[in-house]
Amino acid sequence: MDYEVIVIGAGVAGIYQIKRLADLGINATVLEAGADLGGTWYWNRYPGARFDSESYTYGYSFSRELLDEWHWKEKFSGQPENLRYLNFVADKFGLRRFMQFNCRVDAAHFDEAANLWRLEIADGRTLTCRFVIMALGLLSIPTPPRLEGMDSFRGRSFHTFHWPHEPVELAGKKVAVIGTGATGIQVIGEIADKVGELVVFQRRPNWSAPLNNSEISNDEMADIRARYDEIFATCLRTPGGFEHEPDRRGFFEVSREERLALWDRLYDGPGFGIWLGNFREIFTNEEANAEFSEYIAERIRRRVKDPATAEKLIPRDHGFGVQRVPMETNYFEAYNRENVSLVDISETPIERVTETGLRTSARDYEFDIIVYATGFDAITGAFDHIDIRGTDGVTLREKWADGPSTFLGMMIHGFPNLLMPAGPQSGSASTNYPRGIETGVDWCTDLLEYMWAHGHVRADATAAAEKRWTDHVVRMYAMMLMRKAKSWFTGYNSNVPGHEQGRIRYFVYNGGAPKYVATINDVAAKDYEGIAFGGSAQATPRSLAPGASRAAE
Ligand code: NAP
Repeated sequence: MDYEVIVIGAGVAGIYQIKRLADLGINATVLEAGADLGGTWYWNRYPGARFDSESYTYGYSFSRELLDEWHWKEKFSGQPENLRYLNFVADKFGLRRFMQFNCRVDAAHFDEAANLWRLEIADGRTLTCRFVIMALGLLSIPTPPRLEGMDSFRGRSFHTFHWPHEPVELAGKKVAVIGTGATGIQVIGEIADKVGELVVFQRRPNWSAPLNNSEISNDEMADIRARYDEIFATCLRTPGGFEHEPDRRGFFEVSREERLALWDRLYDGPGFGIWLGNFREIFTNEEANAEFSEYIAERIRRRVKDPATAEKLIPRDHGFGVQRVPMETNYFEAYNRENVSLVDISETPIERVTETGLRTSARDYEFDIIVYATGFDAITGAFDHIDIRGTDGVTLREKWADGPSTFLGMMIHGFPNLLMPAGPQSGSASTNYPRGIETGVDWCTDLLEYMWAHGHVRADATAAAEKRWTDHVVRMYAMMLMRKAKSWFTGYNSNVPGHEQGRIRYFVYNGGAPKYVATINDVAAKDYEGIAFGGSAQATPRSLAPGASRAAE
């Protein structure tokens, strides 16, 4: 066996996972398809890419020394700084030596007889390991549109995920942005005053509210450092894993004036406060949601000078917050500029890409650059890209054809020894990612330690446990207005065959971080109830990194 554990992916989850394994002296490696570490923050280099989590709630919490050493410079830090941070972490803890880059995993097959995974790497190697940990990212497979003529365009074009590493000259250029999700909204706000001309092609508008970013001074950072315990304790307590706590007063129990006062305060406040610091009924009650959505619509009307454009920017098919809310900086003001225009492609669809630009049903447009901000094959896309076969040769793609089913979002029945610290239906997807990731990595690592201590070489979630969890995830959607929205939270993506519309995929756990953590801790406390263990350590002793001590013993 080449490794005891192989981690796939060197993003936020993979970095922390290998830190835990390295500390235990386990013979482990990280395989990363990219040329370097960082995951999301390695790839997404488009202008405007930044956290929507407060920086100091996004960073890792596991090391006091790290918390003391790192200075976040902005409340919502930008991509270059975020990538520097992840590199700083990897270098500080000497984690690079465990990572292999440009290393795409094409297949992972479970060998029943030997209780190990056999991985096929694009470079021709086959690697074996007892455990495989999927740290693939939930939004790591970009989906450009499927438009005729895309290859014929003579200018530059790229999906935002593949924004070039070298600077892109924007001054004086005619630029198209297709897509107005969280990504498009960040790009548009950032480049509007830097390009010659910007045309935004919008199919459906998204609800969006100000990020209200600000710099963090030395004094403020010192205060944050002093409060880290309190900050992380708050994140543990709140449903979203953020500092923002829901307003627990009943929506209909307070007066309209009181509601407006809260909303005015939240609109001018930072980050997801407007979404997660709001009344809880926003997520579940149509009437409450409609009243609040109208409040945001009014804000849009006040910020966009041209009334017709303002109306086009107001969503009609869903209410505020039933999709993940894009946070914006100067987004709505961009449309007040002479050089920016909005094309409603629900009225005049894009027919094709031409050699010189885009053709809609109404006219031709000429561009130097076309930016596809068209989203991701979310949550399960990265799993679908690997030929994963469990017991009896069943592929995960087949098993998940109608949507994922998991045990705690971290294990899959029939795929023993495969762990997902931040998988579909886990606590991460609908919350502050890194908080959920730390929880997931710790749980997976504890499970491995338990197995090593008990001499188990095989762990598989039972079919019954998986069904119980998946049913629970499905039931929770019934309460949420989110179930009605066409977004990646429900598996919608017009660019992925089979995901265009119709069937809901139950991608995320909506019970909130505290309930999730309590549930997975309870499973662990009951000797991992719901997991069937097998094998014996004598037959296959745990392999350690050369020279390492058995830290878990
Ligand atoms: P998205 O939310 O899925 O938005 C994709 C956009 O492209 C939508 O406006 C969609 O229109 C449009 N689109 C897709 N295919 C199209 C086509 N063929 N023709 C025309 N328009 C098309 O993707 P995203 O903006 O990349 O955001 C995804 C998630 O990434 C976010 O929800 C968030 O979780 C994360 N994110 C986070 C940050 C951050 O601040 N940290 C920033 C960016 C992204 P329809 O709505 O009509 O489908």
